[in-house]
Amino acid sequence: MAGVQFPTDHEAKQLILEVGRRMYTKNFVAANDGNISCKVDHDIIWTTPTGVSKGFMDEDMLVKMRLDGTVLSAGALKPSSEVKMHIRVYKENPEVMGVTHAHPPLCTSFAIAGIGLDKAIYPEALVNLGTVPCVHYETPGSQGIPDSIAPYCKDYNAVLLGNHGALSWGKSLMDAFFRLEAMEHYALVLMYTGNIIGKANVLSCDQVQELLDIRKSLGINAGGVPPCAAKPSNLKDVVAPHSPVAQPVEERKELKTYQPGSIDCGCAASPVSSGGGSVSDIEQITQAVLKRLSSL
Ligand SMILES: [Zn+2]
Repeated sequence: MAGVQFPTDHEAKQLILEVGRRMYTKNFVAANDGNISCKVDHDIIWTTPTGVSKGFMDEDMLVKMRLDGTVLSAGALKPSSEVKMHIRVYKENPEVMGVTHAHPPLCTSFAIAGIGLDKAIYPEALVNLGTVPCVHYETPGSQGIPDSIAPYCKDYNAVLLGNHGALSWGKSLMDAFFRLEAMEHYALVLMYTGNIIGKANVLSCDQVQELLDIRKSLGINAGGVPPCAAKPSNLKDVVAPHSPVAQPVEERKELKTYQPGSIDCGCAASPVSSGGGSVSDIEQITQAVLKRLSSL
């Protein structure tokens, strides 16, 4: 870790305030939920205090502390009891420079269902985030949570905390926050495809391998590998059968072009001209249809 560029105290505090505002406005946290931390030296972080809304913090509220738990700042507020899991991530993976924890509704729903985010369904999630394991439930603020996440801090970029929420980390605090955003987006897409649409084309193993190569070339060495499909199922265009694009060229020529006067509305006697489309044409069509309906 020689030559690591740490943010200054001021930069770290400003970043925490900005991430807190975004977390709150994006509905990732309610009331005083969530916590954020940013590393400013090998064993020193700035973090959010307990009992404060992350959307309305100022610099004086933030807490500076060592990874052994010693508080260095002179402010009146205490660090969150959940800072223990942040500290554990920094200890397990010295490359991590920022950690975010929140309760985004969709991630939390998956965490409550005990379902990890691990379907190979779209590139951005796989490249920048990777798969997200769901770790077993432990009481918030207890030592059980840091112990539960420890096995995943090096090989993954985020976890779901069983029946609790989401935790993400990265080589900068913004990196960690973007992963939190990516998790919630991934969970949204998984919910639509799995639980509402009810279908997902899983990427093939070759397609996944290509994305893993891209991830590696971007210097991202963690994120896990999701299960993949033996054969691709997404190589055909999906177009409505009667769309012009779906027809062979010869057949396309025979497709009838829409003409305003050619609507088969049963109003053959309508005085609409074929080159029309003006307001008066529409009024005439409407009147013709109403006349026909009234004669039924
Ligand atoms: Zn929490």
